[in-house]
Amino acid sequence: MNSEKTAPVADQNSNLRPDGSKKVVLSGIRSTGNLHLGNYYGALQKFVKMQDDYDSRYFIADLHALTTNPDPKALHESVKQILAEYLAAGLDPDKNILYVQSDIPEISEMYLLMNMHVGIGELMRTASFKDKARKALGITSESDEIEKEIIGNQNNNARVNAGLLTYPTLMAVDILIHHADYVPVGKDQEQHLELTRRFGRRFNSFYGVDYFKEPVNFNFGGEAIKVPGLDGSGKMGKSEGNCIYLIDDEKTLRKKVMRAVTDAGPTEPNSPVSQPVENLFTLMDLVSGKDTTDHFRQAYADCSIRYGDLKKQLAEDMLKVTLPIRQRILDIRDNDEYLSKIVKQGAERTREYAAKTLKDVREIMGIRKI
Ligand code: ATP
Ligand code: MG
Repeated sequence: MNSEKTAPVADQNSNLRPDGSKKVVLSGIRSTGNLHLGNYYGALQKFVKMQDDYDSRYFIADLHALTTNPDPKALHESVKQILAEYLAAGLDPDKNILYVQSDIPEISEMYLLMNMHVGIGELMRTASFKDKARKALGITSESDEIEKEIIGNQNNNARVNAGLLTYPTLMAVDILIHHADYVPVGKDQEQHLELTRRFGRRFNSFYGVDYFKEPVNFNFGGEAIKVPGLDGSGKMGKSEGNCIYLIDDEKTLRKKVMRAVTDAGPTEPNSPVSQPVENLFTLMDLVSGKDTTDHFRQAYADCSIRYGDLKKQLAEDMLKVTLPIRQRILDIRDNDEYLSKIVKQGAERTREYAAKTLKDVREIMGIRKI
């Protein structure tokens, strides 16, 4: 499936639905660790920019976290931490509904119902499932070995659980239960979003209803982004160990950047840029602005670049973004009373919307009182 070519684009012209109500925005982040620059530029910064104009609802995806990180203490800590990080990055609890996924039992019930319309083949072909399953099983080859490994080996069952396979169902329900118009996410989630649209369409056509709408990503007219990690490959990810976290202190952040993977440096003018160095340029584009990146790109092209200078500049500009957020995280995160009040209110409001959708879905599917 190639979601990039077919993904519908958000209508930038209006934040209103035809009935005059604000369009609904829904997104979430897994409670699998501290938030990093990938989460910030791929998702959180968009959440903050949308909060004034949309009916926006953001959650902490603790049930999704269980698919790969089932550690009770870490899970609880991470939920609190992410809520504090949402707020520290600028999400205003008076402008958004903020809630914890597991506080909404209607989501779990609708997940069960929606799974009846989802094929295991399409789930097994999902790129993120394959990546995460490969990682859990320690498989390095790209072949279809995962299917064999999963089916054949009893010991592996706990490490690749059914929840990981059905992650796209749960994500579809997260979104469809709100009838969301927009789902601001990073590039890595676009395939899941395509599945959400497919499951919604399938539900509509199976029952002959026009019930679910097709949600789309939102990028302010630009493309979805993938923030690279510091290890020279792949995306920055909470579970990848290659992150700059919003909570990193100055020393830690500088150290990480100075250790980022590079190469031996260009020896001929206008050499192609290797992936690890391109990654640093991509990060620089995000935090430093075009003039700075152009300067270093030019230095690369004429072979005068010194990676040490590039990294120093990069660290400096990253700190300008992260340090103010870090300070606010530290100010908020131990204020349990404040945090729990926010998610309690968020859960109450979300449950009203969710209960309405679940009632409709049960009715449409034929689950009625006798
Ligand atoms: P995990 O490794 O546990 O899956 P994650 O870092 O991938 O964690 P998620 O909770 O899966 O984070 O994703 C939350 C949001 O952040 C999603 O919208 C996702 O697209 C976005 N995101 C995550 N990593 C990146 C990245 N490197 N670049 C852009 N967006 C990203
Ligand atoms: Mg992820």
